[in-house]
Amino acid sequence: METTDRLTVCVGDITAMEVDAIVNAANEWMLGGGGVDGAIHRAAGSDLYDACLAVAEVRPGVRCPTGEARITPGFDLPAQHVIHTVGPVYTSGNAGEADLLAAAYRNSLALAAEHGCRSIAFPCISTGVYGYPKPEAAAIAIEITQQWLEQNDTPQRVIFCCFSDEDAAYYDALPGA
Ligand code: ADP
Repeated sequence: METTDRLTVCVGDITAMEVDAIVNAANEWMLGGGGVDGAIHRAAGSDLYDACLAVAEVRPGVRCPTGEARITPGFDLPAQHVIHTVGPVYTSGNAGEADLLAAAYRNSLALAAEHGCRSIAFPCISTGVYGYPKPEAAAIAIEITQQWLEQNDTPQRVIFCCFSDEDAAYYDALPGA
C-alpha cells in the first residue's frame, strides 16, 4: 500500500474519532489542561485523570518529558487508547523545537505500533497555546509520518484531525498529504 493511501487529513473534533488511538497534545505533568487536552479529558471522563496520575513521574511533576509519549486507555472515548505526547513550546525556533516536535510524532507512532494500533488520529500538536507556526508544524507532522509509514506496517492508517479548515489547508498544501 502506498504511504499516501494510509495518511488522511480531516476537519473535526478528535474526541469523536473512532480509531484505535487518538493523540493528546498534553503537557509534561499529564493531568489535563486547556485546548485539545481539556476536551479529551472531559470526553474520556475522570478515569482518564486517574490513569494519568498513575503514570510514573520521571522527575517531580514530570510524567512525560517534551518529545516523549505515554499511553492510557480511552475510557469513555470511542478511541481505545489515548497516546499522550508533549510538543515543544515555540520560542525562537532555534531552541530545538523542530527536533522535539518530530520526536513527539515519532514516539507517538512507535507507541501506537507497540500496542498494535491500526489507526491513529493526531491533533495539530503545539500549534495552539504552545505557539508553533502552523505551516512548519504541518510539514514536520507529514514528513515524520511519511518516514514512519515507509518503514512500518503499523499503524496502517494515520489521520490528521484538524480543528479548522484553515489548519487542514496547511496539510493539504503539502506533497503526499
Ligand atoms: P498545544 O498546547 O500543544 O499548543 P492546544 O490544545 O492549545 O495544544 O492546541 C493544539 C491544536 O489542537 C490546535 O490546533 C487546536 O485548534 C486543536 N484543538 C483544540 N481542540 C480540539 C479538538 N477537540 N479536536 C481536535 N483539535 C483540537
